[in-house]
Parts: sequence; structure tokens; C-alpha cells
Amino acid sequence: MNRVFNFSAGPAALPQPVLEQAQHEMLDWQGRGMSVMEMSHRGEAFMSIAAQAEADLREIMGIPSNYKVLFMQGGASSQFAAVPMNLLRGKHTADYVETGDWSSKAIHEAKRYCDVNVVASTKASHYTHIPAFIDWDLNPRAAYLHYTPNETIRGVEFPFVPETKTVPLVADMSSTILSRPINISQFGLIYAGAQKNIGPAGLVLVIARDDLIGHSLSGTPTLYDYKVLVDNKSMYNTPPTYTWYLSGLVFQWIKRQGGLASLAITNERKAKKLYSAIDMSQGFYRNPVTPQYRSWMNVPFMLADKRHETLFLDEALAAGLANLKGHRFLGGIRASIYNAMPEMGVDALVYFMRDFMQRHG
Ligand SMILES: *Cc1c(COP(=O)(O)O)cnc(C)c1O
Repeated sequence: MNRVFNFSAGPAALPQPVLEQAQHEMLDWQGRGMSVMEMSHRGEAFMSIAAQAEADLREIMGIPSNYKVLFMQGGASSQFAAVPMNLLRGKHTADYVETGDWSSKAIHEAKRYCDVNVVASTKASHYTHIPAFIDWDLNPRAAYLHYTPNETIRGVEFPFVPETKTVPLVADMSSTILSRPINISQFGLIYAGAQKNIGPAGLVLVIARDDLIGHSLSGTPTLYDYKVLVDNKSMYNTPPTYTWYLSGLVFQWIKRQGGLASLAITNERKAKKLYSAIDMSQGFYRNPVTPQYRSWMNVPFMLADKRHETLFLDEALAAGLANLKGHRFLGGIRASIYNAMPEMGVDALVYFMRDFMQRHG
């Protein structure tokens, strides 16, 4: 067996001990004589897996008891619609910050349900920084303020949490959830697709303050209605049981790593190593994001000579460094270094980048 260091942005690498445990339990989960994939979601065994996953997530993230945790389907993109459908609460306008391709998509979808007030946008400068909070055109009557703490495609990340006072704050945390501790009570609602830093594709986690639940627009599809999900413990219909189980194994792995505070230290150090390799390359490699807004999770960079790109990717793969191709919108290189990327993988990439530069610089 020959596992590579997998820098995919999503679906992304999973911690190897999690895959090994899943492999070990694949045919016979804890003496039940069947795989988790083959169990009824309403049976006692799966119910205990589901409950344990939620309990572990609540512990890791410090989720207060007045927040509900929903295990939904449809990916993070489905929440671009579900959020306005559930959170408008009789209002007609919502605030959005546009800092990259994902927030832009969220805005596009929300426009089908309400007036979107874009409080700030960095589109004109190609999404390379986060706009200063003081300049945002916030509407105190907005139903909520939506932002994307980490923009996965361009690797630009908020170094602060916006303070919205009375307007609920909504965050698409798909590519930064579980990368460091956060204070949940600053948020009205958080959502995150599983396939970056949680587990395999198929789930989107929603963490919502309970006073925001139960006000959906009439016409909201049953499966997008947070109240229906809450009342049915996220099992109104068959959930993606295997993804749920694997996510639970990831939460247990996070606990064994010392929790989010400990992962944050490693994540910051991994990112610093990579950015410093880029910045010290005297322009051979280049990352356009203003340094204080650089993502810990997604590190895109360009080669000064674009003709070297394919060679870089081919040689990297031969060295066991996979999935480094940049997003199809952007080209270039992108290294996604979520929790499951060991620091050794980043060290190997940095070593490869120096070596490649020496040979081609
Ligand atoms: C990947 C991603 C999405 C889209 O997720 P899907 O599960 O494919 O719908 C949305 N927002 C952010 C920030 C992402 O990284």
C-alpha cells in the first residue's frame, strides 16, 4: 500500500487512523455482524452512533445547549437557499459580505428569496483581502448577516469574527470548521459541508441558535425546514448513515489530538511553513493574498513561469504529493492542508518546492 499526501480541497484527505478503524469495523461493527452501511438508521446501533457523534461534536466545539445541531444533506450549497428560507422570519432583506467565489454563489442564491444587501465586496480587487469591518454598509433591519470565514478557492480568511449586535451572524464554515476553537455564541447559525474538514461527502452540518428555528417561509421544502429536522433528530428521511458514522470517528480522532486548541497550533504552523516557502522564493512562487488574510487551510500559489505548472504537478505526484492543481476557475497550484494533512506532508511539499526551484529557477 502506498498512500500519498493528498492536498485535495474537497473531498479531502481523512485521518489515516479513522480510515483504519473504519476498515477494521467494515464487515462487523462491534459484534453486530454487519457494516454500519447496512444498518437501519432507526435501529438502536445506528442511533447510538448518531448520538455519540453529536455529543462529541458538542464537546469539541463547546456548543451551548441553546444551539441545535442538524445533520443535513444537499451539501453546503443547499444551505445557500435553506438559510434565507429559514432565517428571513418575515423580513425581506439580508446582509452579505462578498469575499470570494463561495460567498458570491451564496449571494446569487439568496437573491431568489430576498433583497440582498452586499455590505462589502472585494470582487474588484480579485478577492485578495478582507474588507475592513468599519467600512461595511450594515443594515440594522437585515434578517441576518452572512459571511464566508474562509474562501476555499482563493485562500482568503477572516482574521476576525464580525460583531453584529442584534442581527444574527451566519457563517459558511465549510473549509475552516474544526481548524481552531471558536466561540459559538457569537453566531446565529453556522453551516459546513462535511467533505473538507469533517468527513466524507454527503452531509452538511448546521449549528443553529434555537430561537432562529421554526420560522420558515411557506413553500420551504420539508427537507430544508430546520424545524422538521430538529423535530426528527435529522432523520425525517434516511440520512447518509456512513458519512455520519465516519464524521463521528473524525470527532473522536480530534479529541485524541487534544481538541481544537491543539489542532490550531499545528494548523497555524503548517500554514506558516508553506507561506514562508512561497515568500522566500524571490518570486518563483507567488501568493497574491494580503498576508494577514491568508488562509490556514487553502494555500493557492502561482509559478512565475506558467509553463512550469504541469511539470510541477507531474513531479509532485511522482514524489507522492497529490491533488495540487488549483481550482479550475483560477489555475495555478493549491495546497489544501486541513486537519488530516500531517505536518510531515507540508514538510515534504516545502522540500519539493525548494528542490523544484533549484532545478528550474
Ligand atoms: C466546498 C464549499 C462549498 C460547497 O460545498 P458543497 O458541499 O459542494 O455544496 C460552499 N462553501 C464553501 C466555503 C466551500 O468550501
